[in-house]
Amino acid sequence: MAYRKRFGGGATKPLGGNAIVLGAGIGGLLAAAALSSTFRNVLVLERDSLPPTATARRCVPQARHVHALLASGRAAMEDLLPGFVEELLGLGAITGDALADIRWVVDGHRLARGTSGVPGILASRPLVEWQVRQRVRDLPNVQILDHRNVTGLVGDGEAVSGVDVQHRLGGPLTEFVPADFVVDSTGRSSQSIAWLGRLGFRAPPEKKLVIDVTYATRHFRLHTSALGGDSGIGIGPGPSSPRSGFMGRQEDGTWIVTLAGYGIDVPPLDQDGFLEFVRTFPAPDMYDALAAAEPVGDAVRYRIPTTIRRHYSAADLPSNYVPFADAICSFNPIYGQGMSVAAVEATILRDCLHSATTNPTRQFLRKANRCIDGAWNLTVDNDLRIPAVPGRRPVRVRFANAYASRLDRAVSVDPAVGSAFLRVTHLLDRPGMLLRPATALRVFLASRSRTR
Ligand SMILES: Cc1cc2nc3c(=O)[nH]c(=O)nc-3n(C[C@H](O)[C@H](O)[C@H](O)COP(=O)(O)OP(=O)(O)OC[C@H]3O[C@@H](n4cnc5c(N)ncnc54)[C@H](O)[C@@H]3O)c2cc1C
Repeated sequence: MAYRKRFGGGATKPLGGNAIVLGAGIGGLLAAAALSSTFRNVLVLERDSLPPTATARRCVPQARHVHALLASGRAAMEDLLPGFVEELLGLGAITGDALADIRWVVDGHRLARGTSGVPGILASRPLVEWQVRQRVRDLPNVQILDHRNVTGLVGDGEAVSGVDVQHRLGGPLTEFVPADFVVDSTGRSSQSIAWLGRLGFRAPPEKKLVIDVTYATRHFRLHTSALGGDSGIGIGPGPSSPRSGFMGRQEDGTWIVTLAGYGIDVPPLDQDGFLEFVRTFPAPDMYDALAAAEPVGDAVRYRIPTTIRRHYSAADLPSNYVPFADAICSFNPIYGQGMSVAAVEATILRDCLHSATTNPTRQFLRKANRCIDGAWNLTVDNDLRIPAVPGRRPVRVRFANAYASRLDRAVSVDPAVGSAFLRVTHLLDRPGMLLRPATALRVFLASRSRTR
């Protein structure tokens, strides 16, 4: 296989031939940007119809719900596509400090206000995806084709040689598209395991947590002074207050409001029920702002039964095949991590392709695994604080959660602890940073004082 020869001889910057990315979601597009600096041609195949404007599309139904772009994801996107943040702001996205400009309440504790230095950005998912798509489409060696449904891999027990594609708008029924390198970014319902199984590869170990989270989302027009000039408010879940929600300004002047409940606690879609759910939050801010607001459009729902992590780094894979983004790990979206982890993975992929001398696939999966670890543990640990979430709580989780209860109290007193907490939730720092002696002491002292 030409690809394997190219990476075999200790080359420092391999120049590949044709790479294919399956799926033109945020993950696939950013992977294409990463590949474009190494491969001569990059082809992105997408089954959906890609709209010419920043609108939600059929195959990404989650795009109708709030999509937080974390500071780590913002930085990684800017790294991959220089100028991206300015362009997004030019299209109406709103930026600010994640603590000074957004109100946060975590398990009933309001974060003390301060300046965190963590840059927040508010934009709809369709706008972020559309702008990424424009930038990637402009790359001279990238082509994005929609209405192409990938149905399987072609290859042998060592490498893939291409993919089978069904045209959804006429054309030949199935076409073989050859490739030197393939990235699967088809999202959480990726068929990689089945496809690789047909080539003789064993399924990777998989972890699942049943979270049974349901989202309900609606847009509103708010009075200009509704949140006193703040750009949003987030209500985070915890054991004494498992309901969560986020309300934030969007580029079109409306405010998006997403509510989430665990298990049978399903947020209603009708206006009265929707507001009643908001009224039960441990802080009145969102309800007060929405009570006199004008709804825009209907509310929509989305259910997330499980989080899934596939440990591809522990499996044998073809040397030129990389699962990517949600195809590797699909998080609880309440914590807003998916796009940002995808963006960080894309920078890792780019760097591995540039520097790897032997097997960039393995190197990518090992490094991506480390990045996923932090994000996964953070959210799984917090989900396991929620009584409705079934699952074993081993000693590590019980310790982490006892500490989290102190942390929740401390963030309401000490803005420095709040900033450290936001740096971790924005995936700028690893969760272990909250256990460093200086921070742990602040957490201990602050959690003993009267909290808000
Ligand atoms: C309700 C909800 C809310 C979320 N909120 C946030 C948030 O606040 N912040 C955040 O960062 N992330 C959030 N996420 C996660 C985020 O949407 C994803 O992690 C992120 O978009 C990366 O996904 P992806 O590109 O891997 O997959 P997707 O976005 O699912 O894209 C996969 C693409 O592959 C295409 N495809 C699938 N199969 C095929 C095939 N066989 N052939 C060709 N194309 C195919 C699909 O049509 C789609 O375009 C949320 C997710 C959900 C469900």
